[in-house]
Amino acid sequence: MTDTSPLWFDPSLCFISGQWQPPVGGKNLPLVNPSDGQEICRIARGQQADIDLAVGAAKEALAGGWGRMTALERGRILTSIGQLVLERVEDLAALEAMDVGKPLTQARADAVALARYCEFYGGAADKVMGETIPYLDGYTVYTLREPHGVTGHIVPWNYPMQIIGRSIGAALAMGNACVLKPAEEACLTALAFGQIAQEAGLPAGALNIVPGLGGEAGAALSAHSGVDHISFTGSVRTGALVQQAAGANVVPVTLELGGKSPQLVFDDADLDAALPFLVNAGIQNAGQTCSASSRILVQRGLYEEVKARMSAAYAELTVGPATEDQRLGPLISSRQKEIVEGYIAQGKDLEVAAKGRIVDSADPKGAYIAPMLFADVPPTHALAQEEIFGPVQVLIPFETEEEALEIANSTEYGLVASVWTRDGARQMRLAKKLRAGQVFLNNYGAGGGVELPFGGVGKSGHGREKGFEALYGFSQLKTVAAHHG
Ligand code: NAD
Repeated sequence: MTDTSPLWFDPSLCFISGQWQPPVGGKNLPLVNPSDGQEICRIARGQQADIDLAVGAAKEALAGGWGRMTALERGRILTSIGQLVLERVEDLAALEAMDVGKPLTQARADAVALARYCEFYGGAADKVMGETIPYLDGYTVYTLREPHGVTGHIVPWNYPMQIIGRSIGAALAMGNACVLKPAEEACLTALAFGQIAQEAGLPAGALNIVPGLGGEAGAALSAHSGVDHISFTGSVRTGALVQQAAGANVVPVTLELGGKSPQLVFDDADLDAALPFLVNAGIQNAGQTCSASSRILVQRGLYEEVKARMSAAYAELTVGPATEDQRLGPLISSRQKEIVEGYIAQGKDLEVAAKGRIVDSADPKGAYIAPMLFADVPPTHALAQEEIFGPVQVLIPFETEEEALEIANSTEYGLVASVWTRDGARQMRLAKKLRAGQVFLNNYGAGGGVELPFGGVGKSGHGREKGFEALYGFSQLKTVAAHHG
């Protein structure tokens, strides 16, 4: 750490029971800046022993002051965390830009979203209610919403702040005590969040943070018998492992996995309105977005125009270091770059409609990929079926609504989908028939509002986070039946 380093805390520690402490095993891991391939610092390599301590600390918090707090008090603390996050947006954005390679504009937006989650769940904490149920004569029956207890949160590297906000925010609002395992590739803002939460008065043990490898700290958390609920965001392969491990303890799991989300553009679409969404939804965060729109399905009458206009937009796309705030930053790592290059190689026989540009100032050791738009891609091609998690989009022509629906629903994923058409009846039909957890009509993403329940079907996962719905997921219902004659 130098005087110019944006780190204002020691990144090599775990946060357990309100204490910043080295991992029990004393091991650490390098954290690399994907813009230049240079090591930023060392982070803790937490293992089973650290997870044991964190779960123990969470249990103590539930048995102590945190467990006795009213919903109103929990809400006030969350709201204070949100305010402190807002005051530190620039600091958090600088960390995220360095750690994840996010262009600063996106990194700032993520920090603001983190604050918004804390505000939303702070305000919602005391508004989750049970109900009374009309029943037999002589009975009064009501329901209580109670926390699960200790909740485990395993998050990926692509949107650390947003994913921590939506999952930790909702879990704390409902009175759970959390153990957070950030991704080994990006955990600086998770640690910064721990410090901010502490400053805002979150009691010791309500939030514990153990960085480390997935196969070590992550596996230990998902298999821990002291954990009562797991929220996992990441890949399908790891999600299945986490669900399996939690299953041995009969612990409920929320899985937020990948996607291959389509946008359906019909001949009657307002193309001026659609165009920015068609491109941006594919290249935002260099395509490393679970809800990225990687498939653009276009009806034949508009196909050539969409191809020409998207290609013109691609020609303007620049890729560069996060601090230069180009439209795209680098990918998270050279490993991720290799994976994406492997997919691009699979498209060698396809038409490349357009390609963006890597700026000259980009360090050759950075994980840069120029965004690519492939045209006339067969719907069964790997590029049209598999999640690439990089800035690659495919254009697929279609003739009829039935064909568009069949192609849209043909992957194993079902996260989000969007329809661009002026035909109201078609909007309603497709909103029902598209296999996805969110459907957007004449927009894509609706600005990502924290209020909107989010989650997938099929291999995109199960359970819902965000919005009020998440508060039900992070609590369990108890029915109380009193017989009073
Ligand atoms: P990943 O599954 O490799 O890692 C995610 C997290 O799981 C990390 O913290 C990692 O350390 C941990 N992990 C790895 N192995 C583990 C194990 N055996 N047991 C427990 N934890 C383990 O995924 P990734 O490469 O970091 O993220 C990319 C994937 O995440 C993409 O497929 C993307 O679509 C998905 N994603 C989904 C959403 C969503 O909300 N649906 C959001 C972001 C990312």
